[in-house]
Amino acid sequence: MLVNLNEVLKKAQAEHYGVGLFNTVDSEMLQAAIEAAEELSSPIIIGTAEVLLPYGELKLIAPSIIAMAKQAKVPVVVHYDHGLTFQRCLEALHLGFSSIMYDASAKTYEQNVSETAELVRIAHGFGATVEGEIGHVGEAVNGDNATDKMYTTVEAAKDFAARTGVDALAVAIGTAHGVYKIKPKLNIQRLKEIRSAVNVPLVLHGGSGLSDDDFKNTIAAGIAKINVFTDLCLAGEKAMKEGIAAEENYLQIRNSKKDAIKEAIKVKMRLFDSQGKA
Ligand SMILES: [Zn+2]
Repeated sequence: MLVNLNEVLKKAQAEHYGVGLFNTVDSEMLQAAIEAAEELSSPIIIGTAEVLLPYGELKLIAPSIIAMAKQAKVPVVVHYDHGLTFQRCLEALHLGFSSIMYDASAKTYEQNVSETAELVRIAHGFGATVEGEIGHVGEAVNGDNATDKMYTTVEAAKDFAARTGVDALAVAIGTAHGVYKIKPKLNIQRLKEIRSAVNVPLVLHGGSGLSDDDFKNTIAAGIAKINVFTDLCLAGEKAMKEGIAAEENYLQIRNSKKDAIKEAIKVKMRLFDSQGKA
């Protein structure tokens, strides 16, 4: 069934497990995600991100994602990740996404507050939820996770949550997007302080490449949503290379890739303890 973030994250926050966002830019990823969630009876968040649109245009992939979500036996949030423009966020809402992230974290703090608050008003009119971000989750390729200058502060988390009315809040505590060059050092203490200062479910971006302990510790300290994408790409790439080496045909490779991505998602669901929580 198609649901919004409130319907999966409030329970996850109360019961101390995490729900994964696994972006699904093509039919293999989409099928992998739905099958993994149904087989493990786990809630799931799927969708795409604005930077991923060159690999699957919204109008092309939205109808299939939304149809699969509605048919699924488990709760499925269809989320537009890292929305960067109002135009694209509105397009996602009109196409039926049940949730969006608006990422103005690279703008000034006041701009981030006012633009996110406006999008919250609009999205709530659609019955959709909104995730905002403060602090800045950088790019691993730049070694952005190495410094703490972009970490979310407790004061900003409180102020931002109260002034925007966001339904979920992405915090920067030492992770970064992509493949890590420098081992991330997470500020769990800061996360705990933020958790006790705000009620809104907290989100961890840059989940690919973290250790199992990193996930367990961040979920125990209050993270309810975890974004994983790079690890799915790596699993799919490995399966494609093995399929080519084994002289599998196009269709066989397509299914090998789907199965490898499904397994990668299941590993994360077990780790996040969301299995059996649908
Ligand atoms: Zn992110």
